[in-house]
This record gives sequence, C-alpha cells and structure tokens, in this order.
Amino acid sequence: MRWQGREESSNVEDRRGMRVPGGGRGLGIGGAILLLAFVLITGKDPRALLQLISQVQDAVPESSAPPAGAPTDELGQFASVVLKDTESTWGAIFSSGGGGGYQAPTMVLFSQAVRSACGTASSAVGPFYCPSDRKVYLDLSFFDELSHRFGAPGDFAQAYVIAHEVGHHVQNLLGISDQIHSAQQRAHGESEVNALSVRLELQADCLAGVWANHTKIELEAGDVEEGLRAAAAIGDDRLQKLGQDEVQPESWTHGSSEQRVHWLRQGLRSGDPNSCKT
Ligand SMILES: [Zn+2]
Repeated sequence: MRWQGREESSNVEDRRGMRVPGGGRGLGIGGAILLLAFVLITGKDPRALLQLISQVQDAVPESSAPPAGAPTDELGQFASVVLKDTESTWGAIFSSGGGGGYQAPTMVLFSQAVRSACGTASSAVGPFYCPSDRKVYLDLSFFDELSHRFGAPGDFAQAYVIAHEVGHHVQNLLGISDQIHSAQQRAHGESEVNALSVRLELQADCLAGVWANHTKIELEAGDVEEGLRAAAAIGDDRLQKLGQDEVQPESWTHGSSEQRVHWLRQGLRSGDPNSCKT
C-alpha cells in the first residue's frame, strides 16, 4: 500500500506507554533488590511493604500521563492514515445512502493493557471494538503477531484488521449489533447464540472488503492476497486471556477460514454494504 504522506485521522488516542491499574503489576528486579535491602536493614515483614506498594499502584490513575498527540512512529502513522481513509469511505457511503451522516469512531492505541467502557482488557484479547464508547482498541504489537505467529505479514493485512473493527462500528451505527444482541437474548442454547456471533463477524469482514473496494490508498501487487491470507489466518477465537472484568469483543466465535475469505471477497467485489447480508 502506498500510504506514506497521506492525511492522518484526528480521531486517534495514543495511550501507549500508559499504565493501567492492575495491569502489568510487578516489582521488577530493582524493586526486588530494594525490598531485600528493606528486610535486611529493618528486619520487618516484607508483606506489609508489598501491600503498601500495591495500594500505591492501585491509586495511580490511568490518566497519570496525558494521551500523546498524533503518533510520530511509522506504525502509529500507518494506523492513523488507514483510519482516516475508512472515515472518508464510510462518510461517502453513508451520505449517498441518505441515512444520515457517518460518525467516525475513535481509535485507541495502547500497549499491554487498556481500560474501555467494556472493561479492562490486556493485549492478549487482540484488537476489539467497544460499542459503548464507540472506540476501536488496538495494540500495534498485534501486527507482529499477525506476521510471525499467524503467517500473515504485510500492511494490507494490517489495514484489513483495522477495517474489520471499523466494520463493527458501522454495524453499531446501523443498529445491527443491537438487533443481533437482542436476538441472542431470545436465542435457545449456546449454538444459536454463537451462530449469530459468527454472522456478525463475517459481516464485519464483508464491510472491511467494502472499504477495500473504495479505498483511495493506492494498492500494490499482492496487497489483496495479504488481506485474504490474514482473514484465513486469524479467528476471533485466538487465545484469549481476559482481564478481571471481562471484555466481550472479538469473542469466541467467528467463522471458518473459508467463510471469512468468502465474505471479505464479497465486500471487495461488490463495494456495496447491502451485499453483506451474512
Ligand atoms: Zn470482529
């Protein structure tokens, strides 16, 4: 993708490097040495000190460091350019559909752990969209994982991941997510609930394809194949270690690799969100 130099989104919250209470707890080697020195010098029970440290850590608000401005690193800028492009694409589609304007989501870049309106999540959950605060949460180290662990390298594969999460935002705006969730509440049994989740996920893949059809970012040879490879490689059932209060975003169910590739292709070919009737 020839994305360099293109306009970046102003809807990016860069929270990388910010600590979340309860996330990334640990003394480190320096702390352990200090603790040992404390015990040796005072002869006191180290548990009291550990408890104190833990209380102090809990008291540190997440916003102890203000979110940084626009990303200055290459990967952050890339994500920001892709987000901007989804804003233009969906803005145009929404206004041509006559169904009101498109309200862009915010993209939160984080490292290790993040607090959202849907709960606290560690990076292990992968990228996710929280409908309650209308934000896409993304730890950019997921792209390393995508490349090395899932064998799906390339910038278009990364853009597809962002476009899929923006697809969930579009579903939220159109009221589709709500419809699915109320259908899930009426559903009988887990398999019916899961089948509805699969349809929602596959539709987000299709909407990512719709974006790719309309993108103004110039694609290069092999880009689309990268995206299809990523669709086949990642499932929302990737190993999840959930935080204390659980985030339920890219939850247990997605669809088979073939289904994901099929629906991404469908959106890519048609460029029409109405064709995404999963
Ligand atoms: Zn999803």
